[in-house]
Amino acid sequence: MSKNHNKTGWSTPASEALRVSSLGPIASFDPESTPGFTGDKALGEQLLVERGEVLADLQELLYANGRSGDNRSVLLVLQGMDTAGKGGIVRHVGGLLDPQGLVIRGFGKPTPEELEHDFLWRIHKALPPAGRIGIFDRSHYEDVLPVRVHNLVPQAEWEKRYEMINQFERDLVETGTTVIKCCLVVSKDEQKVRLTERLNRPDKYWKYNPGDIDERGFWDQYLEAYQAIFDLTDNDSAPWHLIPANKKWFARLAVCELLVGALQGLDLDWPKADFDVETERKRVAALD
Ligand code: AMP
Ligand code: MG
Repeated sequence: MSKNHNKTGWSTPASEALRVSSLGPIASFDPESTPGFTGDKALGEQLLVERGEVLADLQELLYANGRSGDNRSVLLVLQGMDTAGKGGIVRHVGGLLDPQGLVIRGFGKPTPEELEHDFLWRIHKALPPAGRIGIFDRSHYEDVLPVRVHNLVPQAEWEKRYEMINQFERDLVETGTTVIKCCLVVSKDEQKVRLTERLNRPDKYWKYNPGDIDERGFWDQYLEAYQAIFDLTDNDSAPWHLIPANKKWFARLAVCELLVGALQGLDLDWPKADFDVETERKRVAALD
């Protein structure tokens, strides 16, 4: 096994090396690091292409099985501070996949209609159907992030949400969805660089939100809220990973690798024909 991982540049499988429980508190996590990976940027970029092809093949298997009555699906949850690169993961890792098999959903401030329902209502509606890979750009965890930091609902209410989330994810996993949770971690310095870039480039103005500067003022409270999430909602059936995100090439490779691992774990095979292959061959051979 280790031989295989050396070949791919990984000294430890990504699912182990990046698991939040093996990395310690987010507050002392190094966003420049590349846990478990011994290669450099050039190798990382080359591997992303190679592993992307593996991922695409696995996705096709999942899709084929979904079309043949298998109810399994995969859900990738992306969280992280503003500018951490969630959109970049959607574009560069999601971009390796067949759009037909992907369901991408982003979650912003709840609409008045969404606020009339419980916080998981909009999440349920966005889940990937059988055979698909879902990517959530933000998620139900927002309901214990800005909501907790700013007490958008009373503490007595947001406190209960961790257990509600655990129950929700347990049900998801039991009904065939593999859940992978990733928190992209960018440093405060790197966030400043990225915010500056957004203001220096007219093609990036659309990403700039003046409110992000105000949220940056709550950096430590957000770190605490993330730590509470990891302490209360990381478990083997729906694990949390810390993805160092200062190096975009590594964040993309890491998430790709986690997806490959999750799909391989499903141990999928091509669905058997639900027709008699020999009979159909003869019928096709006999066509004019
Ligand atoms: P973006 O991801 O840049 O489109 O920004 C979406 C914004 O919506 C972020 O500031 C999120 O924190 C905010 N948001 C998402 N979900 C919630 C929620 N449940 N409650 C409050 N704010 C939220
Ligand atoms: Mg934003």
